Amino acid sequence: MKYISTRGQMEPVGFLDAVMTGLSPDGGLLLPESLPDVSGRLEAWKELSYPELAFEVMSLFITDMPADDLKELIEKSYSVFRVTEVAPVIPVGDLHILELWHGPTLAFKDVALQFLGNLFEYILEKRGGELNILGATSGDTGSAAIYGVRGKPKIRIFVMHPKGRVSPVQEKQMTSVLDDNVFNLAVQGTFDDCQHLMKSIFSDVAFKTEYSLGSINSVNWARVLAQMTYYFYAAFRVQESTGAEEVQFSVPTGNFGDILAGYLAAQMGLPVHKLILATNENNILSRFFNTGEYSLSEVVPTLSPSMDIQVASNFERYLYYRLGKDAGALRDMMDSFKAEKSLSVPLNANGVVDDLFVAGAASTAQTLATIKKYHEEHGYMLDPHTAVGVAVAERFAEGRALSPKAPRTARRAVPTICLATAHPAKFTEAIEQAVGAAAHHPVIDALADAETHCDTIANDETAVRDYLVTKTRG
Ligand SMILES: *Cc1c(COP(=O)(O)O)cnc(C)c1O
Repeated sequence: MKYISTRGQMEPVGFLDAVMTGLSPDGGLLLPESLPDVSGRLEAWKELSYPELAFEVMSLFITDMPADDLKELIEKSYSVFRVTEVAPVIPVGDLHILELWHGPTLAFKDVALQFLGNLFEYILEKRGGELNILGATSGDTGSAAIYGVRGKPKIRIFVMHPKGRVSPVQEKQMTSVLDDNVFNLAVQGTFDDCQHLMKSIFSDVAFKTEYSLGSINSVNWARVLAQMTYYFYAAFRVQESTGAEEVQFSVPTGNFGDILAGYLAAQMGLPVHKLILATNENNILSRFFNTGEYSLSEVVPTLSPSMDIQVASNFERYLYYRLGKDAGALRDMMDSFKAEKSLSVPLNANGVVDDLFVAGAASTAQTLATIKKYHEEHGYMLDPHTAVGVAVAERFAEGRALSPKAPRTARRAVPTICLATAHPAKFTEAIEQAVGAAAHHPVIDALADAETHCDTIANDETAVRDYLVTKTRG
């Protein structure tokens, strides 16, 4: 399998090169040149454990690595999860909750970043050289990436976070990792400043090459690939337990990385009725799927900070497919978006952007009410990100609005699977607001007295570069 750029101006590369490249030199994102049709394999896949299924899905997209090596990497990545099932599906009320937070940092990002960390290590072993990862985080990505590569030889990781602007738990999770190869930088600025510093340093190709800079954010194709597995896995579990043919997924969305994996699984033949795209008040994506207009506004802080995003970095991958894989048309659209801060696509005959998607936003009040309701009625605690997904899912849960006189087939509901993207203890301030008591998890409780290490740095590109240079030479 070869990988191409959404902007069409890159020579196709194999998987391992795609992973090391991150973003394409033409400014585009990498995608497989074709999507395999797996509808004939679904029956057989239902029998598989999570790591076995991950191997089947990934090996369709990874053809430049021996099968045994890939198996070993996958097993290593998922053996650190706290439950052997990796991604259990729990029935809660009328919904099915897919718990994706059983990894080391209690957020779904571990599913992909544990794999990516091991993959980087593998590639460096095979090819030699070293890697200096530079990332910016508003919270969850940083700790998941750090846990993905901590202690690994030939890899250093530099994670910038806005000083004093990430949650205390998130800060502790990152800065309590004391391995020699982990560098936490508290930047005197905002998350946007951190991201700007990162992009600016990456755009200096000579510097990037000299210092072997690598990226762990969700533009890296390996992250999207690793996330596909759980859409198949959860659909199989819910098909088994309900007898339904089709399922639908509700996905709390920020950068569009998680839901993109679901979109690709559906294109490959998984019977998905709808993808329910849920946003918080930062609703650029839900507006897009309802109106066809993608237009920037200001980021507002919410209780679900990992979704406080305006420019969704993976959206370009979706747009590429929506434009019929026309890289020229996509380039034009991205150019005009850069100039005008908005773009639009025409609605289809059904008056929507895409028949597969429905979308909605949940306000802070709705998020809190949803946490409270599920706690009171079902004894189940949702984190605020998951609660956004659940609040929006309830609007689109099929079948309930139909009258009992409707034909039996029409009445049978399509089961809804809500992706639970973090454990509530990571965002206990929101939980306290919603239910008046804290949420706990032993991993988070253990952080209270942990020793931490972090360097404060000015919001200044030269300062960050100098820091990198000193630490990599040292
Ligand atoms: C990153 C994150 C999201 C958003 O996922 P995207 O892939 O950016 O759409 C949702 N919830 C949590 C807890 C996250 O950490």
